[in-house]
Amino acid sequence: MDLGWAAVGVAAGALAGAALRGTVFRLSVPAGDPPRTTCPCCAGPVPRWLPLRCRRCRRRLGTPLAPELATATVLALLLGRFGGQPDMVAFCYLGALGVSLAAIDITVQRLPDALTLPAYPVLIVLLALAALAGHHAGSLVRALAGCVVLTAAYLMLALLRPGQLGGGDIKLAGLAGLALAWLGWPALLAGATLGFVLSAVVSLGLLAARRITLRSQICFGPFLLGGALLAALAIG
Ligand SMILES: [Zn+2]
Repeated sequence: MDLGWAAVGVAAGALAGAALRGTVFRLSVPAGDPPRTTCPCCAGPVPRWLPLRCRRCRRRLGTPLAPELATATVLALLLGRFGGQPDMVAFCYLGALGVSLAAIDITVQRLPDALTLPAYPVLIVLLALAALAGHHAGSLVRALAGCVVLTAAYLMLALLRPGQLGGGDIKLAGLAGLALAWLGWPALLAGATLGFVLSAVVSLGLLAARRITLRSQICFGPFLLGGALLAALAIG
């Protein structure tokens, strides 16, 4: 862990988290609903950037400091590990996006296409630039293959166990597959497995605490992302 780069990650993550707060607020709506542009309480106007409080009723919007602290933590870990390498921008991009996606998934149990789909070309271009800078053409080809493999695996799981995984999880799996396979096949395997392990551990804990029942559905996106992050840090 490079502490200098980790400090850069804290600052960059706090800024990115604040910048993404508006996106999380707008997209934290049920599937099919248009992006939210007004206060859920009084339908009053909400600041487009940094929506902390409703301008009319002064109700607090979102959890104070949560996206900023979470993104700062993730980017500190990622830059502490990948800082100075050609692929650090790609990993920070996916890290910041991942925190926003996890926040939306926890709130409304969905991973909006508006965030996952445009991330494919962006991440592929960032990894291609890293491949050019570091002469890692093989890693780029492996990343694209990993994207296909993990998307196909999640698609199969979703077909085998309908209702457990949604379309958003499959699209997110493709992004995780890109990043993890860039680091190598062991990272892809570990990341994919850890997602399910984390989900099982947390589900058992929630069951034991009677916070959920066997029929409850819990969102999978945060576990998929958490597993990918752990694998990237440990094996990447
Ligand atoms: Zn209001």
